[in-house]
Amino acid sequence: MKKTILALCATALVCGCANNEAVENPLLAEFNTPFGVPPFDDIKPEHYMPAFELGMEQQKAEVDAIVNSTEPATFENTIAALDQCGALLNKVSYVFYAQNSACTDSAMQAISRELSPKLSKHSDDINLNPALFAKVKEVYETTDTAALTKEQKKLLQETYKGFVRSGANLDSLGQAKLRELNSEISLLQLTFSQNMLAETNAFQLFIEDEKDLAGLPKSLIDNAAEAATAAGQQGKWLFTLHNPSVMPFLQYAENRDLRQKMYEGYTNRGNNGNENDNKEVVRRLVEARIEKAKLMGYYDYATFALETRMAKTTEAVCALFDQVWPSVVKKANEELKDIKAEIRKEGKNFEPMGWDWSYYANKAKQAKYAMDENELRPYLKLENVRDGMFLLANKLYGVTFTQVDSIPLPHPEATAFECKDQDGTHLGLLYLDFFPRASKRGGAWCGRYRNQTYVDGQRKAPIVTVVCNFSKPAAGQPSLLTADEASTMFHEFGHALHSLFADVHYYGVASVPRDFVELPSQVMEHWVFEPEMLALYARHYETGEVMPTSLVEKLEKSGKYGQGFATAEYWAAAWLDMRFHFLKEIPEGFDVMAFEKQVMDEIKLPKQIAPRYRTTYFNHTMGGGYTAGYYSYFWSEVLDADAYEAFKETGNIFNTEVAAKFRQCVLTPGCIDDADVMYYNFRGATPNIEPVLKNRGLK
Ligand SMILES: [Zn+2]
Repeated sequence: MKKTILALCATALVCGCANNEAVENPLLAEFNTPFGVPPFDDIKPEHYMPAFELGMEQQKAEVDAIVNSTEPATFENTIAALDQCGALLNKVSYVFYAQNSACTDSAMQAISRELSPKLSKHSDDINLNPALFAKVKEVYETTDTAALTKEQKKLLQETYKGFVRSGANLDSLGQAKLRELNSEISLLQLTFSQNMLAETNAFQLFIEDEKDLAGLPKSLIDNAAEAATAAGQQGKWLFTLHNPSVMPFLQYAENRDLRQKMYEGYTNRGNNGNENDNKEVVRRLVEARIEKAKLMGYYDYATFALETRMAKTTEAVCALFDQVWPSVVKKANEELKDIKAEIRKEGKNFEPMGWDWSYYANKAKQAKYAMDENELRPYLKLENVRDGMFLLANKLYGVTFTQVDSIPLPHPEATAFECKDQDGTHLGLLYLDFFPRASKRGGAWCGRYRNQTYVDGQRKAPIVTVVCNFSKPAAGQPSLLTADEASTMFHEFGHALHSLFADVHYYGVASVPRDFVELPSQVMEHWVFEPEMLALYARHYETGEVMPTSLVEKLEKSGKYGQGFATAEYWAAAWLDMRFHFLKEIPEGFDVMAFEKQVMDEIKLPKQIAPRYRTTYFNHTMGGGYTAGYYSYFWSEVLDADAYEAFKETGNIFNTEVAAKFRQCVLTPGCIDDADVMYYNFRGATPNIEPVLKNRGLK
């Protein structure tokens, strides 16, 4: 979720809109809907800009009121007031950005481009307001914190730190430069994301000859036929670069030339020298980030970014990389040997390439474990997996999820569920939206249409959304997920629980550091394929039979196979992200793709493996959000693997006491403590790296 504003809000807003204006623009009115969800059908693109403008105006007036107050600055009239201001802007931002990711179109994209510099200026106007900073500093330096609650103390600290990190201590020349850079960086990130979406949508592989479909699963073929028909080419089969199409194609297509076409299409997105090329965008973006870091007094952008993370220093990330990378390369090379053996088995002797890995790795897995991932899919019907994750949440935390009909939906394909606590208290609303479409960006994520807040001492529940790009079933067929998709669903649901369980009084203490945020999500992945869990949800979509023990056993044995590749492609991308942000300057004629190659050569990444995201489609880091932060997934994995041990050590993976402690120490309190303290509070020890190495078969 993009958070574009410094301070968010909950106080009664100074209403600047006449009633008839609110009638015409639903964003300006109270959302008079079940659970106060946005009235999606009534909101049109043209409503956003005026609502944003008014929201910014209102927040500016609220900030002015804080600055112009003649009362002595206190925690309440300065820090809390700032935290609570900007109600309308906050409300509109949540709706707009969630919709712009899941249901965008050219009108929405145009708005986001127009908005980007305006919001950047607006937040700079607040963060770089010298009179406001003087007040914040006064409170920070003079308040007797003994009188504050723990949450208030943390808010005071975070607010002060936030101002300093936003440039409040720079002189006016420095601040002017910073404003320019912030505005440029946000626009470059947006351009990067829009180019990437355009490139992903632009590629189409039409197959005309049925022979070329050899090896592909029937469900994929059916989908491809439907996609071709929808594209006006009935009788052909259309394959795209959306994950549910390209990934199984690379895994199963026997036609090597076509695999190469798909692979090259996928790995060259944003690198085609056309109007959506991202190379120059990245070059300038990295350079602008370096300029910003230096202006703020840091050597490089990574050092600046990591200061507020759990890792704290670049050294800590490098140490983790150094600790795991040699065994990752070793493991990947072992898998490469298996791949070569499979090629020889076919009587061929070509050198395997990137487009061969997935295909032959799957064959090697079948040869070793008699395990074809497709065998699992009949047991992973989407609704069964979904109900399984609801059941898991119920077993661990006692919460329930009940489908809600007759409620506005962000998209007709979405469904809505009410989450209630064990005692029946409403915790929040959850939307689920599973299938790809051109208006949705790729990947899977958990976002929010409304954050959890307190209004007049009452908890206001969040509105959460899980958005995925799962294999869409052909008409009349059930959606049968891949193992990876089932894990993804549990993962995003973990983020959702983190949002639904949140119970904090201030926005400024609501979010946890980027490298801690994957703990709540990734920990959920540990349950997906546990035999005790499979017994609860993995039923055959036709017979209703529980997954047979023989298949569960094969799954357990083969589960670690392929981790060399998976970990290598992941860490290659994470390391690439770090290396871009370790740069202290951009040399003349800097070629981002040559840099990528140099970095990969240095770490001896096997040539058959591309980083999970290459430079020109690495949206996590270049689109913002995970900048110098893609390492976070593994950093969090050290935590989640160790956290899951806490359940296993009790001999009961559904242990409710451990779950209650996890909820209390990790899922509920926002960032009330530093991340390492929060983890220690849960586990009573610092995280141990052994479980993650064992889980990935690296030890
Ligand atoms: Zn995640």
